[in-house]
Amino acid sequence: MSKGPEIYDFNTLFLQDEYQELKERKRAFEAPCTAAEVEEAEAYSKSEEYKEKNFARNSLVVNPAKACQPLGAVMAALGFEKTLPFLHGSQGCTAYFRSHLSRHFKEPVPAVSSSMTEDGAVFGGMRNLIEGLENSMALYKPEMIAVSTTCMAEVIGDDLNAFIENARQEGAIGREVPVPYANTPSFVGSHITGYDAMLKSILSYLSTREGIPAATEGDVTKLNLMLGFEPYTGNFGELRRIMAAFGGGYTFLGDHSGNFDSPAKGEYSYYYGGTKLADVPKAASALGTLSLQKYAVKKTLDYIGESWGQPVISMPTPIGIKATDRLLQAISELTGLPVPEALTEERGKVVDALTDSHNYLHGKRVAMAGDPDLLLGLIGFCLEVGMEPVHIVCTNGDKEFQEEAERLLASSPYGEEATVHLGRDLWHMRSLMIGEPVDLAIGSSHLKYAAKDAGIPLVRIGFPIFDRHHMHRYPIVGYQGTLNVLTLIVNTVLQQLDDQAPEYGLDLVR
Ligand code: SF4
Repeated sequence: MSKGPEIYDFNTLFLQDEYQELKERKRAFEAPCTAAEVEEAEAYSKSEEYKEKNFARNSLVVNPAKACQPLGAVMAALGFEKTLPFLHGSQGCTAYFRSHLSRHFKEPVPAVSSSMTEDGAVFGGMRNLIEGLENSMALYKPEMIAVSTTCMAEVIGDDLNAFIENARQEGAIGREVPVPYANTPSFVGSHITGYDAMLKSILSYLSTREGIPAATEGDVTKLNLMLGFEPYTGNFGELRRIMAAFGGGYTFLGDHSGNFDSPAKGEYSYYYGGTKLADVPKAASALGTLSLQKYAVKKTLDYIGESWGQPVISMPTPIGIKATDRLLQAISELTGLPVPEALTEERGKVVDALTDSHNYLHGKRVAMAGDPDLLLGLIGFCLEVGMEPVHIVCTNGDKEFQEEAERLLASSPYGEEATVHLGRDLWHMRSLMIGEPVDLAIGSSHLKYAAKDAGIPLVRIGFPIFDRHHMHRYPIVGYQGTLNVLTLIVNTVLQQLDDQAPEYGLDLVR
């Protein structure tokens, strides 16, 4: 069998003569700046004067470390069995959410749109929504449709509640089909706000509708687990493993790990896994709810605490020994089960691994960007191993997050140099990393350009990760997740050491 024609990758393809000639002709036609002018502008963009101007801007955002609300709503919807995410608004937005999630998880993402265009914007989108619901039932046969909105529907003020009721009265969708909805305007909030709004809507809808099954004894001895806007499917697996070690029953309130990590068996299904709809009302009678995110599910946690009347414990992403200890204590507290010996053993092994690596990490200065819960987890981890967070950029954090982050930083001498930048973007981060250098950056793929300009490596943790594969399959929470985070960071540092080593310093053993 022949191997076929030679395939050039992106880096070498455009070095071929024909592309180089094309590039020259384009350059001559466009009469661009000279190489010297480009160099001068680049040097200026790295100056202190430019940094001041960059931080003075207030009407422009460049490369924010966040996505828009409905993207989170799509993820929340995909956490439930046979649920179709339905975006009321424009098709282009829906294509963006699908491609964004697909590029991170490397999985197809089912989501439909009411496909509003100019006439919908002028006359309202009710017909689009009604026909869209009817078509969705006919084509995709979901058990639930979770409706959220894009900016267009929000700007014209479409009334989802009335439109869905009209759709039911017209017979476009049966009364037995749950259609929870959330308003997710993207001119405020971010993907985590949208996730929160949709999750709360689904939980409240399913737990209050008529004819729900009564909870059994088995339900009241279970624990509800929430992972929130979770970019790591591996974190669900890790929680399953931890709960199996405890031997306690549990229900995930939103489990999108199946939809974002389904097997290739030769046949495609729109739906894979997810929390069973019938389990939600039973979850209202559970022992309590434990959430591994705090800032991403604020309203949902308030709802559960107030309406389900059960104990609620939430914590930022538990990365590191202390944070995982807190996680296990919370499970123990809510279930009454002791922390299993196997996990204590595992803890010891991870402490050992941290000790092995800490001399390479001690004193390393770090810049990090991401969602509030993840940043708190990463700050805690850095302080545990003696790394020094310096620049912390949180585009979608609030004052409460800032205060919690500052308290955490103040608890350790390694946090002394840190500044938490709320509402800033990754272009601000570029100025920060160039003006006040650090050793490495931690964040999503979007941070790679700023890290490159600053001449430092990027450890990819967070969302989205487009340019590395399978990272989301490995957990970052719990002792095992802590070991994974440690491995990622320390090996990046060791690679950097090798890359920069003089001839006498390329040591075999590190
Ligand atoms: S910000 Fe608004 S218009 Fe843009 S993709 Fe998100 S929902 Fe659509």
